[in-house]
Amino acid sequence: LTEKLQNVFKNLRSKGRLTEADVKTALREVKMALLEADVNFKVVKQFIKSVQERAVGQDVMNGLNPGQMVIKIVNEEMVNLMGSETTEIPSKQGKEITIWMMAGLQGAGKTTTAAKLAGKMKSKGKKPLLVACDVYRPAAITQLQVNGEKQGVEVFSMGDKNHPVDIAKAAVEHAKNNQQNLVIIDTAGRLHIDEDMMRELEEIKAQVDVDATILVVDAMTGQDAVNVASAFAEKVGIDGVILTKMDGDTRGGAALSIKAVSGKPIYFVGMGEKLSDLEQFYPDRMASRILGMGDVMSLIEKVEASIDEEKAREMEKKFKKAEFGFDDYLESMNQMKNMGGISSILNMLPGIGGNKLKDIEGMIDEKDLARKEAMILSMTPQERANPAILNVSRKQRIARGSGVDISEVNRLVKQFEQTKKMMKQMPGMMGGRGGKRGGF
Ligand code: GDP
Ligand code: MG
Repeated sequence: LTEKLQNVFKNLRSKGRLTEADVKTALREVKMALLEADVNFKVVKQFIKSVQERAVGQDVMNGLNPGQMVIKIVNEEMVNLMGSETTEIPSKQGKEITIWMMAGLQGAGKTTTAAKLAGKMKSKGKKPLLVACDVYRPAAITQLQVNGEKQGVEVFSMGDKNHPVDIAKAAVEHAKNNQQNLVIIDTAGRLHIDEDMMRELEEIKAQVDVDATILVVDAMTGQDAVNVASAFAEKVGIDGVILTKMDGDTRGGAALSIKAVSGKPIYFVGMGEKLSDLEQFYPDRMASRILGMGDVMSLIEKVEASIDEEKAREMEKKFKKAEFGFDDYLESMNQMKNMGGISSILNMLPGIGGNKLKDIEGMIDEKDLARKEAMILSMTPQERANPAILNVSRKQRIARGSGVDISEVNRLVKQFEQTKKMMKQMPGMMGGRGGKRGGF
């Protein structure tokens, strides 16, 4: 597939905007990639349509060809769809007991994941209690007990003679009496979606104050994940999803399908059978994996990084100019602001710290920026180009013109001079390729 893709890219010459033909050609390959990753075909169809609408007419970034530009848009849309940040599982605040219920088909990984979660939350300072509500398979209770012991987490069980609702209620009482603040209920699954299973989950939810119903889905189920997710969402109601068995060779198309259909967040992914193999879900990593276009993605990242570098180099030239005046100062401040604030800039500057860092931070304190701009705009062009002529009466005029106190004008002039001096002392501080951003 990768080879095919590269051919597509070769055939598309770089031009200003994405034409309908560019987008169609590239999306045909994306469609194949998504289907190969086992994304549900209905989801694929709809997704492709929405990207098509968004992509046509967009500017092609310098350094990318149209095909790659389409992939960039596809990737962004996938990340958007899967939720652009990580989501916490809903919990009660304070001392009250939080209750999570696992749901899912048999073999999806509920019991294992319940124990994984308990361990993770224990390490975050919670006091969990695992509850064995799968009474249909005696082995399930033992399995939970074994896993709970490994995690050092108590397992509440009443054997297989009681109703799951009664067990869940008794477990919450038990947690109250033992100062446990997180109850994780392991439930029974069936091989297929089944009314009895759904009813049982509904009943537990109705009788116990569940904060989050967590649907556990096997990532290998691929296309079928959509049916599972929508059935559980509709019948029981779910709050979020954990996708297991992502350590297998599946590309994880289920993640996209589930999110598209249920709209619910993915909290974690299971990355193996060991109880430590539970990882935070990162939409951007998942998008790359589903697309299976690692090469294209890293190219896109490089292009994005080099555009940032280009901006940094432009700014450096300004700083180095012999006649660095207030106009340049203002422009630099604005540029820094446009480049995404202080943190993104500091990333690009090797070896900056301590006082120098403070100086730069002072220079682009964003709240301050508007006032500084007002003062600079109140200066005459001569004053801006040659700050040395700023005497007291000129400063007073500037203060009046911009509605600030003269002490603030004095501070601005001082900061400007410090910045100018600092920039001279640091030849080439913005320059240099590679470094932390690597890859060039
Ligand atoms: P349940 O029926 O939903 O409770 O599923 P189980 O927790 O019993 O898990 C079924 C099987 O899947 C077990 O053999 C688990 O070890 C395995 N399993 C669960 N999660 C993962 C995972 O993230 N990766 C792998 N490789 N296996 C997993
Ligand atoms: Mg189980």
